[in-house]
Amino acid sequence: MAATLSPFLPSAAAVPDPPGPLPCAAALPVPLPAAAMLARPLPALHDEEGARVPEAFPEVVDAHVHLFPDRLFEAIWAWFERWGWPIRYPLRTPEVIEFLLSRGVGRIVALHYAHKPGIARSMNAYVAGIARLHPRVTGLATVFPGEPGAREILEDAFADGLRGVKLHCHVQCFAPDDDALHEVYAACSEAGLPLVMHAGREPSSPGYRVDPHSLCAVGRVERVLRDHPRLRLCVPHLGADEFAEYAALLERHDNLWLDTTMVLAGFLPGPDVSDLLRVRPERVLYGSDFPNLPYAWDRELRRLGGMGLSDEVRERLLGGTARELFGIGG
Ligand SMILES: [Zn+2]
Repeated sequence: MAATLSPFLPSAAAVPDPPGPLPCAAALPVPLPAAAMLARPLPALHDEEGARVPEAFPEVVDAHVHLFPDRLFEAIWAWFERWGWPIRYPLRTPEVIEFLLSRGVGRIVALHYAHKPGIARSMNAYVAGIARLHPRVTGLATVFPGEPGAREILEDAFADGLRGVKLHCHVQCFAPDDDALHEVYAACSEAGLPLVMHAGREPSSPGYRVDPHSLCAVGRVERVLRDHPRLRLCVPHLGADEFAEYAALLERHDNLWLDTTMVLAGFLPGPDVSDLLRVRPERVLYGSDFPNLPYAWDRELRRLGGMGLSDEVRERLLGGTARELFGIGG
């Protein structure tokens, strides 16, 4: 096992820095809690992949796919190889779309995030252009919280056809209840469009400039839900690693959604979350994190298919909830 891991251990001498500047993912090691899922990089799973979405499935919406311009994809993959896991599918944007749609995924929700101020407009224009070209791709906008004109950046992106916002607390270095976010919450609330925000504490890694546990906590997210009742907020990864707390939050708040991204794979350490999927399936949606995966593209689909869920719950998780949240096909 050590031999498999060693090429991915964080050794500054052996691994060149990513080509693009990633200020908050810039490898300034910080002491991490013992539970850190990425205390050290994880090896790939060499599991077999399926040829298509399982036959019996309803139309699948993959609500968590990443599309970036080539140079940013390369920087992100370099970060993952060094701090996270080997990338099994280093595919560019057009290849990502072709790969998933040709295997039977019905719809893609495309997410991206700006790691520094000043780049969100061009990134949003990039994703809006992709969404115009591909009617089965729903694009979300991004912004760097607190950057000048943040609200206008989002309003312009919505006018350009983007259907929500994606933010990432760990990469962008902010807490969910940071004042800089109020204008983002206001823009989403007013437009009636959802915000997907990586606000859970995990997976945390010494490759982030901050300890995500110092930024993120379920209590901060609950404050946001209370202060912004019109905001529709989706927290990825079922709120990892505060799974039980997020499940309770889901029961208390009608403006919260959770996506299942990477949590069903049995790859990251964590509890069995299959019961959580039945709590409020109308508030939980499937997403994959493709193409930044260390395992087969359909691993989580197949595992979800084996969980003994009712047809109704499965339809919600695989598409119904996402179609409602993002206004797809309506
Ligand atoms: Zn993601």
